[in-house]
Amino acid sequence: MSVLIVGSTALDSIKTPKAENPRLLGGSASHASVAASFFSPTKLIGVVGEDFPKKYLALYQRHGIDTTGLQILPGKTFHWSGEYEENMNNRRTLLTELGVFETFSPELPKAHQGTPYVLLANIAPALQHHVLDQVKRPKFVVADTMDLWLNIAFNDLVSLIKRLDGFVLNDSEAHQLTKEDNVFAALKKIHKMGPKYVIIKKGSHGSILSGPKGFFICPAYPLHKVVDPTGAGDSFVGGLMGYLATAQGSIESNIRRAMIYGSVSASFCCEGFGLVRTTRTTRQEIDRRVRELEKMTAF
Ligand code: AMP
Repeated sequence: MSVLIVGSTALDSIKTPKAENPRLLGGSASHASVAASFFSPTKLIGVVGEDFPKKYLALYQRHGIDTTGLQILPGKTFHWSGEYEENMNNRRTLLTELGVFETFSPELPKAHQGTPYVLLANIAPALQHHVLDQVKRPKFVVADTMDLWLNIAFNDLVSLIKRLDGFVLNDSEAHQLTKEDNVFAALKKIHKMGPKYVIIKKGSHGSILSGPKGFFICPAYPLHKVVDPTGAGDSFVGGLMGYLATAQGSIESNIRRAMIYGSVSASFCCEGFGLVRTTRTTRQEIDRRVRELEKMTAF
């Protein structure tokens, strides 16, 4: 089965203490789609400007990503720039140029409207709503978000959360949403807002799922060197949805393994700038890391 992914499609300029890389392919939908494409047919919904490099369109194509829902409009592609401190958990946004993103209205081609797995990657909640309004009886809908929407679009986000099967957010966002310091207390409060599955990401400390069968503690793959963590969260949820869409059986019986695949997808993302390392990986390499994680966590 296939996955529909809506989110940002961006040019990212990233600065780390070791290097600086301008205008890389980025955006939540780009990271999530490439990660999902290792598992399932993936359809991307987004917008770019006329300045969007052809080589990035070719990259989507190499990954078999369906870009019929990618609008190319007069104007500039969304440009985001961020800088990391020595401790890569700390990042600050240097610049956000919305460009064609400012007036973006995601429209689903007719053929995409029946897609069973829908990932509303990080984008304004009003746009996530708009996509959800266009899909017909999806099997599983998951959304991701960021602190910006908690700050400027809180009500839209809360009404979106009600419509979801799964919600993925990081620990500081969970705290901001629920005012709970304790992650398990936050999970309980978020369930009450609607979703059956809630996942709180904790960066290099992995993630925690709360679902009908209780909790699952998902590790991050241990990396000795992180080059650029931009898009790790998007790769996590992209890998998770891509895996779920191909797995036989119920969501409940597959979601834990799907999170492990998500974790491994995120690990490749962190090993290179932008999508450089992720695009070089293979399904075999992903499966190898999954087996390693399986060994590390068995007791
Ligand atoms: P993450 O590292 O998971 O926070 O995701 C980073 C990605 O989010 C980058 O590729 C950015 O292009 C994208 N991004 C940054 N700001 C925004 C925004 N306001 N809306 C949507 N995507 C964004």
